[in-house]
Amino acid sequence: MEYKPITKPAIEQFAVEPNLGEYDGARQSITWEQIRSELDGHPGGGLNIAYECLDRHLKTNRRDKVAMIWEGKDGEQETYTFEQFTKEANRVANGLRALGVEKGDRVFMFIDRVPECYFTAFGTLKLGAVIGPLFCAFGPDAVKDRLEDSAAKVLVTSPALWEKIKEIRGDLPALKTVVLVTRREEAKPAAGEVLWDDVIAGQSDEFETVNTDPEDYSVMHYTSGTTGKPKGAAHVHNAIIGHYATGKYVLDLHEEDIYWCTADPGWVTGTSYGMFAPWSNGVTSLIHEGGFSANAWYGLIAKYKVTVWYTAPTAIRMLMKAGEAAAKKHDLSSLRYTMSVGEPLNPEAVVWGERAIGLPFHDNWWQTETGAIMIANYASMEIRPGSMGRPFPGIEPAIVDDEGNEVAPGEEGDLAVRPGWPSMFRTYWNREELYDSCFRNGWYITGDRARMDEDGYFWFIGRADDVINTAGHLVGPFEVESALLEHEAVAEAGVIGKPDPVAMEVVKAFVALKDGYEESEELRRELRQFAIGKLGKAVAPREIEFLPGMPKTRSGKIMRRLLKARELGLPEGDTSTLED
Ligand code: ATP
Ligand code: MG
Repeated sequence: MEYKPITKPAIEQFAVEPNLGEYDGARQSITWEQIRSELDGHPGGGLNIAYECLDRHLKTNRRDKVAMIWEGKDGEQETYTFEQFTKEANRVANGLRALGVEKGDRVFMFIDRVPECYFTAFGTLKLGAVIGPLFCAFGPDAVKDRLEDSAAKVLVTSPALWEKIKEIRGDLPALKTVVLVTRREEAKPAAGEVLWDDVIAGQSDEFETVNTDPEDYSVMHYTSGTTGKPKGAAHVHNAIIGHYATGKYVLDLHEEDIYWCTADPGWVTGTSYGMFAPWSNGVTSLIHEGGFSANAWYGLIAKYKVTVWYTAPTAIRMLMKAGEAAAKKHDLSSLRYTMSVGEPLNPEAVVWGERAIGLPFHDNWWQTETGAIMIANYASMEIRPGSMGRPFPGIEPAIVDDEGNEVAPGEEGDLAVRPGWPSMFRTYWNREELYDSCFRNGWYITGDRARMDEDGYFWFIGRADDVINTAGHLVGPFEVESALLEHEAVAEAGVIGKPDPVAMEVVKAFVALKDGYEESEELRRELRQFAIGKLGKAVAPREIEFLPGMPKTRSGKIMRRLLKARELGLPEGDTSTLED
């Protein structure tokens, strides 16, 4: 399939930007120092994410530009200019300081996508303290695990959310203060609790952002828990160089854009690309508090004239389920560029985007640990549907074998990245050994299996834990799921290896059907034949089982380890991030 560049070609910009060196494909380095020079840096000589996202714009005519358009779940609207946003964050920084929060302390956020969530994030960063965003659908155990592990000092939450989990308080000696945001409901603070309004009341809207070192911790993000117990990846302020650069060249953000990232800040996409990339680029960002509905989402794009849209495969599959007609009812003509991350993007979804909204989804790859996008289909590139794209300049990914040696193009292996990029995580909190075990022969091993083609495009095969060994073939679940998804009846598919005395493992597929399709023996046979036609007998699923939906993480990733555990009657392990 042919795709024309939609906007000013990002890669060509690399070639013409004298500061960025020449980009000639996968291995050409740009100097991060030069990208860094496009940022201001803290006047004290350090680097602070909040300074780059907020303070520095106040010296320019972006001061009065809208930074955040917020739409609440009941349709309320608020907008904040960079100046207003900065002042709110300053009040929070002063308020937190008055609560005794110091540089390096952890301030966790267990709150909906309300403006206070964003003010807290930046107030905390301004103070040199560390934010820990949590997804607000977590239950008490999930929150407790993370607060305990990180020894968080302050938790910012709402009365309703706190009510749900407050039994954990006694188990958290490090937690000094719980701040209750009473935007939606009243509260009477108990001991150790304070109201948000009281924290910021009387606080100055001036605050001198702390001169953090680029290597000081900034954000702690727990991973999605798709493959096991979530790990606390710790990031540093230096990461803003990566957020800024990828915001400019992968998200292709321009001054006039209205950008919408649909991810929740509880996941790394919601911070790196819901906050840091757009605001370090001085771009207006839409924050939508409400949940998913195809109609509401299309409506938001039309209403706010969103130009750049960053979402996830699970959302795209839900939009596909709602049908093309749902998209056609709205004026989506403001959109110029759409991207996806978080899971493999099935080729069918790329093609569907082109049909339904007139734009293909550009897939890109990264993970909590990498902090920023590593591999991408750029705006200027020909998309290869099903591929994650090519490396960001200055990033050196490779496919390596068990010894950490690079394999030839086309061969499958472990996806690895040469350490040293600015947004790389610096450790797993309290799990130094696990961190150390991620390195092999000078490479950071990502835990994903992939291959690279002759042109330097990377193709995802599966997570190392999910790859299936059947009769001597290694099969990636993604390939099988993508083939099934091409069948008109299939809404979602999850594929696992089921132990087998003869073949070692056989491929088993779980399939959820689109509305209007009924499960039947006939359809099962038809799907199997369909898959055999596409993949051949060795790779096509031997067994197909219908399910109403796939078990997913709250960030929308199919949890194949649960499909497998359930199939085999084994313990389910950590399910704290499982969707209800
Ligand atoms: P855990 O590490 O706790 O099991 P997780 O790996 O899902 O959870 P994240 O860091 O949120 O946690 O997700 C990153 C992973 O998501 C990647 O390592 C990869 O497996 C998958 N992923 C992200 N983007 C893509 C993509 N474009 N194509 C394929 N897989 C992707
Ligand atoms: Mg992971």
